Amino acid sequence: MKVSSHSLIERLFLQNRKEVVAKVQAVRGLVDTRDLGVTLVHEHICFDFLGKLQTGTPFIEKTFAFNLDLLKKARDVGIQTIVELTPWPNVEKILALNEKVPELSIILSTGSYLQSCGHPVTGMGETELYDHMVADITRGYAGFETDGVKAGIIKVAADTSRLTDWEKRTFRIAARVQKECRVPVATHACAGAREQMEVLKAAGANIAATFYSHVEAEFGWDGRSLQEEAEYLADVARAGGYLHFNNFDFEFDTPFPDLMYLINHLENSGFGDKVFYSIDTNITVDADGKIWMEAEREHPETGRRTYAYAITDATPRLMAAGVSLQRITRYLIDNPRRYFEAATPGGIQAATPGGIQAATPGGIQAAATPGGIQAATEG
Ligand SMILES: [Zn+2]
Repeated sequence: MKVSSHSLIERLFLQNRKEVVAKVQAVRGLVDTRDLGVTLVHEHICFDFLGKLQTGTPFIEKTFAFNLDLLKKARDVGIQTIVELTPWPNVEKILALNEKVPELSIILSTGSYLQSCGHPVTGMGETELYDHMVADITRGYAGFETDGVKAGIIKVAADTSRLTDWEKRTFRIAARVQKECRVPVATHACAGAREQMEVLKAAGANIAATFYSHVEAEFGWDGRSLQEEAEYLADVARAGGYLHFNNFDFEFDTPFPDLMYLINHLENSGFGDKVFYSIDTNITVDADGKIWMEAEREHPETGRRTYAYAITDATPRLMAAGVSLQRITRYLIDNPRRYFEAATPGGIQAATPGGIQAATPGGIQAAATPGGIQAATEG
């Protein structure tokens, strides 16, 4: 029987696409991308406001218990992976939390947040920040090198669409570290997602392994209408970037119909494979030790916005607005997996700076069972 070379190559290509697998660095070791499952790509495991130091905070036992409860509830509703985007995580406490909820894969970040937050990392010079990020990714967080707890993702932030020189420098360093360490990049992009993407692209970043958060926040639209904003975001997706949504019950920043319009516009424009959502759960602790969820003081309803809320509230709300289960599965499972795999093209293992190491002998592993592809609402 004669098989044309064209169809053979096509078949191999399709097969390879399915079989591409990569390893992602999580707190408790490398995780096969097929096992990421339901993934919240932008969350925080804070012990105080995320711009502050997370260690040495006065109410550490209280915040530990609070976080443990949130993580257990996340596990119980079927969440399998949480990406912790505080770029200076409290590794010791998160390690202890993860030991109590070992079913969850927790992926930690390195990098920076807004310059205005004043964290010591924001004061680092170019070489120092570069070395700091590479060390977190390749050797492990300071003090945790022997435990092998390493960063699996880079976080950077800019405040407005006119990036400052400091912000541009941070983004360029992120692109450089991404290229050398083969980890993805996530940004804080209430404003200026497209401008951020352009800075990263000019610095040689792998845009297919970048995502932009909070893009639906209307105060960051620079005067664009809803329709114009939808097109602006489609440009980012067209360039390969992922767009992250989290403003559920943040009606004051994004009315739900607008959130739906943006997601549907991306889907209908052929960019449904570039959409993520999670909650961006984060806390602050006041002087009396009371824990507040973001915006809870002014808007008590936001106190419900836990990790589990992504499944118990945000997902049913999306489905009630017409988002199919197939789309939900894509946004919560398939897209996060593809994003992480894009950072390590061809099934290459993460965190091997300059070195290309096959995840499995031959670099390709059969994926007979799409492990972890599971209905988002099973839990
Ligand atoms: Zn965040």
